[in-house]
Amino acid sequence: MTQDSTRKHELLDMVIVGAGFSGLYMLHKARGLGLRARVFEAGTGVGGTWYWNRYPGARVDIESHEYSYSFSPELEDEWTWSERYAAQPELLRYLNHVADRFDLRRNIDLNTRVTSAVFDETASRWTVLTDKGDHVSARYCIMATGCLSAPKQVDVPGASSFKGETYSTAKWPTTPVDFRHKRVGIVGTGSSAVQTITQIAPEVGELVIFQRTPSFSVPAHNGPADPEVLRKWRENREANREAERNSAVGTLLIEATEQLAMSTSHEDRRRIFEDKWSKGGFAIGGSFADLLLVKEANDTVVDFVADKVRSVVKDPATAEKLIPRTYPLGSKRMCVDTGYFEVFNRDNVSLVDISTSPIEAVTPTGIKTKDGHHDLDVIIFALGFDAMTGALGKIDIRGRDGESLKEKWEGGPRTYLGLMVAGFPNMFLVTGPGSPSVLSNMVVSIEQHVNWISDCIAAMGERQQHVIEATAQAEEGWVAHVNEAANMSLYPQANSWYIGANVPGKPRVFMPYVAGVGVYRQVCADIAAKGYEGFALSSV
Ligand code: NAP
Repeated sequence: MTQDSTRKHELLDMVIVGAGFSGLYMLHKARGLGLRARVFEAGTGVGGTWYWNRYPGARVDIESHEYSYSFSPELEDEWTWSERYAAQPELLRYLNHVADRFDLRRNIDLNTRVTSAVFDETASRWTVLTDKGDHVSARYCIMATGCLSAPKQVDVPGASSFKGETYSTAKWPTTPVDFRHKRVGIVGTGSSAVQTITQIAPEVGELVIFQRTPSFSVPAHNGPADPEVLRKWRENREANREAERNSAVGTLLIEATEQLAMSTSHEDRRRIFEDKWSKGGFAIGGSFADLLLVKEANDTVVDFVADKVRSVVKDPATAEKLIPRTYPLGSKRMCVDTGYFEVFNRDNVSLVDISTSPIEAVTPTGIKTKDGHHDLDVIIFALGFDAMTGALGKIDIRGRDGESLKEKWEGGPRTYLGLMVAGFPNMFLVTGPGSPSVLSNMVVSIEQHVNWISDCIAAMGERQQHVIEATAQAEEGWVAHVNEAANMSLYPQANSWYIGANVPGKPRVFMPYVAGVGVYRQVCADIAAKGYEGFALSSV
């Protein structure tokens, strides 16, 4: 047998799907447990989100030093971020550095897409097939597939008829795009669009922004990383990391508070909002404890943000169009920007409100709305993702009795802790639906899941157990709890991707767990301490 054909029929302890933040760390931990593990990654490089999302202006929305691994003090010591909010090329360099530093590449197959994963009940192993002809058998299958990795289909009528250049933020070319002197249209105003818009507006001939729903966007106050901030962070790094892990959303930028907006005077509220606004990023979302629980409390921060928009955007009519009015602040992930609203004061930028003048069709020469035709040379689609379940839905995953995960989740995703699915033994999800995941600093949540999975596998090994599965009853209870928690908040009031509202036909189920990273971590730890309560464990 050649080495290649050996690989194609490999017998493994663990298959990991995806080589982003989750897959890389999972591989490192698996090695530490002495497991034979292999990662399959569809991209031609490692990096996951930061490999694919290379559109102009792409950068992280959590401060760089917090949006990084904490598992290795040496790694933390040797890496210094250049900006407060790192841009995509630096994040990709970081993840490549991690792959090299921990010698991970020898167990990663790039340019290889997993097509199916089927549980073989007789052997209690997963059979995993890829588009490169791999046929491997593994005890454990780890879905490190990412929450925002399946771009939404372009659902704008006539899109393929356009004769100019077309781009999608989530599948940006690796070579630079020259926008100079061109008439560029961008459809969408979520985070990807906001970052693209601010980056390309000074460069393009003309920019037409097609907005269906305005976003809450807060200033990042980005700039070179402050050496003093980094020095203080390093001085107390262990304590800071621990505080992140036990916080609500996994970042210290959002400080814990019990103060209620509704019990605070108008003047004091404005002072507190102003202070958070000046800190930048998501800080404002944590101004008061009741912002995401009480509509009237949320209205106070919406009013504050509306005034900020009005103070920047010179044309009053444009400013009013840019102020979100149909959902509470924070119930969709806020955008973190560098000069977004300022863009609308430029002579070469115009806003088309497609909520009142809908797109009728993309034509060979531009975009036709109810009110007229916009001639364009370039169209950029920034339409978002089939979030949290989309990437898993692309793989034919079958558990006991050949049950398909896609069919099981037809009415919405069902998991126990966002980690496992009843009927799919030994398959773990990293930051799956039912866990805080996208409501948090992803790296903090990823590390917590990967550590929990590794500890679980190690504990099973000690007890000579090889099969773990969420019970149907535990799953039922967790799904009900996740729903109940969401319904106590204002989150379900938005037509967000958190609830699947952005993808036509997707069931509307609130997917992430809203109780917070710290609370969730404790729940997971308690369950493990009770001998993995809610899971069935066996030796075969
Ligand atoms: P998104 O937030 O889902 O935004 C998609 C945009 O496209 C929305 O404005 C949406 O309008 C619009 N849209 C979708 N389909 C449309 C259609 N058929 N016609 C017209 N407009 C349409 O997607 P995203 O901007 O890619 O961001 C997704 C998530 O990725 C973010 O929330 C964030 O968590 C993450 N992200 C983070 C960063 C960062 O700063 N680090 C950057 C990019 C992305 P409606 O709102 O009306 O549906």
